Amino acid sequence: MMPGKPFQTIFFNKYGGLAFLLKCNFDSAKLDKNLPLFYRELLDYFQELTNNSQYITNDLILWNNKNITVDKKSLFWKSWFDRGIYFIGDLLNSAGKFLTLDEFQKKFDFKVSYLNYFQLIAAIPQELKRKALVSPTPDLFSIPLEFQQLNDRTLLLPKMRCKHYYKMFIEKNNTEPTAIKSWKKLFPYFTDWKRSFKEIYESSRDNKLRQFSFKVLHRIIPTRKELKKYKLVTDDICSLCPHSDSIENTFLHCTETVNFYMKTLSWFNNYHNTRIHLPHEHIVLNTFKDVFPPKLSNPLKHRLCLLILFQTKYLYTCKNLSKRPDLEEFLSKLHQQYRIENCGL
Ligand SMILES: [Zn+2]
Repeated sequence: MMPGKPFQTIFFNKYGGLAFLLKCNFDSAKLDKNLPLFYRELLDYFQELTNNSQYITNDLILWNNKNITVDKKSLFWKSWFDRGIYFIGDLLNSAGKFLTLDEFQKKFDFKVSYLNYFQLIAAIPQELKRKALVSPTPDLFSIPLEFQQLNDRTLLLPKMRCKHYYKMFIEKNNTEPTAIKSWKKLFPYFTDWKRSFKEIYESSRDNKLRQFSFKVLHRIIPTRKELKKYKLVTDDICSLCPHSDSIENTFLHCTETVNFYMKTLSWFNNYHNTRIHLPHEHIVLNTFKDVFPPKLSNPLKHRLCLLILFQTKYLYTCKNLSKRPDLEEFLSKLHQQYRIENCGL
């Protein structure tokens, strides 16, 4: 695909079309081993966009489901799909048992092979079957998950796990990632990027939080700037301030962000009777420990690190939901995180 051209959605027809695929509980790695990297990145990008979305209980969709696999591949059977067979619930009778082949064929007026039918049934994990029984069947088509709905969510990028990044950047790879070059243009004194990655690893044990920070540092968090580039939205104006959106806007310049940094730090300082001052670039670059007072105790360090990581993620989520960040709400989430990571107040 050429940059700047709309991507070819026709490619996704073998998965029921892009709009359908995006409703599925897919894992791009399980769709097709030979999925071209560009499409994989695109899908991961969209998945990031739809993360946290409450649109649909998508794990009950049979197709493209990362938990319903044969030979480690998710399934999409077009003729079944065309018959309106979408959900685990479609295969269950009112007593919660799988339909017999006969019952199934009658219900859908559809002849299928015995083998396919039992292959599918065998691939459905018990807990999903149980869930299907107690959950209402999602209404797949009343929820248009088209790009307009994705407007306010963001991102792109190959889905690498923390430990992969960690390996790559800390142990092996000595070349500087492009993202780091971009950060250096903004902050020429920023030199120890390896440490920045390491810092993430040491600041939290929560893999989701770590991954998020890696993505920020790697500049692979989509904002409206990237969405506009992909022609998914028509403008790139930040959802919370009148400025053009971008990574820098999201984490450094946006009025809401700047205010929020101030509020959270002043909460921390008041609560712990400290006087920490934290320039914003240290937040984004994960070099915040540089400005921690030397006497700061370990538990407070841990809390502050978590606060910093957690608030970037919170701000990003808020922005995608066009919702003003709220200190109370944030603190209650933060306290939960503190408890999870054993540094509760
Ligand atoms: Zn803004």
